[in-house]
Order: sequence, then C-alpha cells, then structure tokens
Amino acid sequence: MEIFKKIASLKVYLEEIRRSGKTIGLVPTMGALHRGHLELINASKAQNYATICSIYVNPTQFNNPADLQKYPRNLDKDINLLGTVKCDAVFCPDNEEMYDGQSILKFDFGSLDKVMEGKYRPGHFSGVALVVSKLFNIVGPHNAYFGQKDWQQFAVIQQVVQELKFGLILHSIPTLRENDGLAMSSRNLRLNDRQRQQAAVFFQALRLAQENLKMGKEIAGVKRLVKETVEKTEGMSLEYFEVAESRTLDLLDRIDGARQPIMCIAGYVGDVRLIDNMFLN
Ligand code: AMP
Repeated sequence: MEIFKKIASLKVYLEEIRRSGKTIGLVPTMGALHRGHLELINASKAQNYATICSIYVNPTQFNNPADLQKYPRNLDKDINLLGTVKCDAVFCPDNEEMYDGQSILKFDFGSLDKVMEGKYRPGHFSGVALVVSKLFNIVGPHNAYFGQKDWQQFAVIQQVVQELKFGLILHSIPTLRENDGLAMSSRNLRLNDRQRQQAAVFFQALRLAQENLKMGKEIAGVKRLVKETVEKTEGMSLEYFEVAESRTLDLLDRIDGARQPIMCIAGYVGDVRLIDNMFLN
C-alpha cells in the first residue's frame, strides 16, 4: 500500500491512474479505524480501480476542544488494518499540509444544519464540508464513500457535491454494528467495559421507537419513551431524538405523509458523545 503525507506526491500517483482512464474511490476518515470503516473500503474496492483512504483528524469540525484532544489516534495500527483489506493508498496529511496555517472559509447550509448535529455542534458541518471539499479537490475521485451512521453529514455533503458540481458519485454505506447493536465508532474506544455495555441502549431505544411509531404512537410520546429508556441508566443522557425527512432533514411531528423518515439519536455515556440513526421503514 502506498502511503502519502503530501498532496503533491499523492497527485502524481493519482494522475497516472486517471490518465489511463481508471477509476478512483475515496474513503475519508478520521482514523482509529474499525470494521465499519473497512466496509467503506470494501465497497470502494468493488467499484474502483484504486481506493484511497484519507486519515485526518480535522480540527475545524470540532466545536469542543476537549473532544478534539481526546479523539483516538493510532496511525500505525490504521495503516496495518488498511493493508489487510488491500486498500491501495492512504493519505495522512498534517494540519500544515491541509490548512497552511489558515482557515477563513465558512459554509452555511441553511436549514440542513440548524437541527440535530448542526444545532448541538455549531460550526461542525462547515468544518466537515471544508475538509471534504479539500479532499475532493486533491483526490478528484470518481466515487466517494460515507457511512449512513453520520446521515446528516451525508445530506450536507450531497448538497456540497450538487452545488459545487464536484462531478462525483456519493455512496452511503449501511452502519456496521456490534453484536448487541451498538454502532461501531472510533469513539467507542473511549468507553470503559461498563459504559461499553450501557452504550447499546441507544440502539435499543431506536428499535423501541421504530416499533412504537409503526404501531401509530405519536412522535411526542415516542420522544418521551426514548428519553426514559436512555436515562434510566445512571451516567447516560439523551441529547436529542428526532424523526426527520431523510432528504431535507425537516423535523417531523407526525409520520403521515412523510416520504422516508429517519430516526436520529445523540447522547452521552459518561463524557463520550455517541450518535446513531435508523430509517423508520
Ligand atoms: P469517521 O472516521 O468517524 O469520520 O468516519 C469515517 C467514515 O466512516 C464516515 O463516512 C462514517 O460515516 C463511516 N462510519 C463510521 N462508523 C461506521 C459504521 N459503524 N459503519 C459504517 N460506516 C461507518
């Protein structure tokens, strides 16, 4: 596997692939890789000649400095893992390479980022859009792969690709889960054994919500049920549970007439913030 820390050398490698008419797939990550990330790599490998995985903990998308500082990092282990699935190249730049010591540009997504993650993590999606746009410009992929786990991120990036005419195809890959349903996440590494067991409650709450909504229970009542379910465990708290139209992210207070509702949840186990989601149908 090729390892690039510099944009210029990555571009030389990619140029040759592009010149010979072959396709490039990009999988952007922040490292601390797990099997969920590898699903994205495998999806890209199945559809492209070359798969590039980027590993970069992007400071501009962290609204909480402590979260940035505590974000798990293990580049050597990540590189080994990518080797096991025969990823073709990894791009792991430093802050200087990505930002040249400056960052002024901001994105405004209107209603797309006024809710859920956008509401609780102000500036987060501007930072995500900035770094993903940089990566699209640097790599020029034909295909780019993202996880359904970060659904709002996918919606925001779809908007970026459409409006800025990046001319690539975005793919959303289903969330890979642990046996007890917990969505795999780099942040799970920060949970102790007890918290790790408790964290499955977010998935259980989504399942319970799905069951109740399908039986016709009102969203307001389901929200109360989800909050009770999460918060009955000491040390756990719910930040939000919302049901939204998956494309526009408009929040719903009733299901009737909605095209493709998605249930999104965020909360804390101790000081570790986790998110998850599930389509209603
Ligand atoms: P991250 O490193 O957390 O920024 O994630 C990089 C990409 O992997 C994002 O597109 C995530 O949505 C995706 N991802 C994270 N966790 C999972 C998972 N459990 N299953 C599938 N994709 C995931």
